Amino acid sequence: MLIVMKLDAPRPDIERVKNKIKQLGYLPHEIPGDHRMAIGITGNKGKVDPELFLNLPGVLEAIPISKPFKLVSREVKPDNSVVDVDGEEIGGKELTVIAGPCSVESRQQIMDIAGTLKEMGVKFLRGGAYKPRTSPYSFQGYKEEALQYLKDVRQTTGLKIVTEVKDTETLPMVAECADVLQVGARNMQNYSLLEALGAVQKPILLKRGLSATIEELLMAAEYILNGGNYNVILCERGIRTFETATRNTLDLNAIPIIKKLSHLPIIVDPSHGIGVWDGVSAMSMAAIAAGADGVIIEAHQDPAMALSDGYQSLKPSKLKVLLEKIEQLAPIMNRTLSLTSVPVK
Ligand code: PEP
Ligand code: MN
Repeated sequence: MLIVMKLDAPRPDIERVKNKIKQLGYLPHEIPGDHRMAIGITGNKGKVDPELFLNLPGVLEAIPISKPFKLVSREVKPDNSVVDVDGEEIGGKELTVIAGPCSVESRQQIMDIAGTLKEMGVKFLRGGAYKPRTSPYSFQGYKEEALQYLKDVRQTTGLKIVTEVKDTETLPMVAECADVLQVGARNMQNYSLLEALGAVQKPILLKRGLSATIEELLMAAEYILNGGNYNVILCERGIRTFETATRNTLDLNAIPIIKKLSHLPIIVDPSHGIGVWDGVSAMSMAAIAAGADGVIIEAHQDPAMALSDGYQSLKPSKLKVLLEKIEQLAPIMNRTLSLTSVPVK
């Protein structure tokens, strides 16, 4: 159920509606929009009687929500959500580029690539400290040591850090050095993790599960919003199909469908989507043309020596060419990409 307030309804009217929702044992969620304030109700087991609200001052209408997902839906919030990452917006007019290695491999490696990316105008650095891998024998990440390097790199470069949080135990530590907490595809339905992320106020980059439907992705996001954290960015990173020529099948269909169903920003990971470096540029351009709010791309100074995902990582020179192409494409999509080069001291 969504309670839509009248235009300019005063704060006491809003609070009265929220208190009523709480008295009924449900959860109120303020949903400010460009034109009006609405209050979403979750936590109800059965139907909510609209009559309970329609007579309260300031209430315009009470709308039942038809979709299984509520807070993430466009029905509840018609305007696009823009996630603010400490001054950098994701989901606004400016396209987002997140780039960096799959894993943090050493202080030197992450400092070098961060400096190079910053000079290219990239504002978000990715790099895994905890790497949940399909094989227990694969590199699992340098964990706390890598977190420390990420902290240092944030301090020296000012780049926003995007790094994966693997479980609830390490969440406080990872949250200390991350500006955006990434939930990996393998963890999309880790409900205790999603609930814990609902209780932090950090932006979350939620990757689509290996075999998850669009509805399952949106339901996973719903857990985080229902917990009170509305700063969620969705990520399409390819799904499992019968095709074996590529690592995954990048589901670009998901972009227009998700844009129709949800107000949340969505970015695309072409690196994991196609799984080979020489396909990353084409799929990045396709993602932006499909309406994505940005891309997250694996980049490495020396891909052949990378400890994980080197075969799908771009060398900085290749990434630079791609970013210039995205910059040209942006205005066609009514977007911008400003690659203001920032020299690193
Ligand atoms: C990654 O971003 O390096 C990663 C492991 O991605 P995913 O969870 O999408 O497989
Ligand atoms: Mn990777």
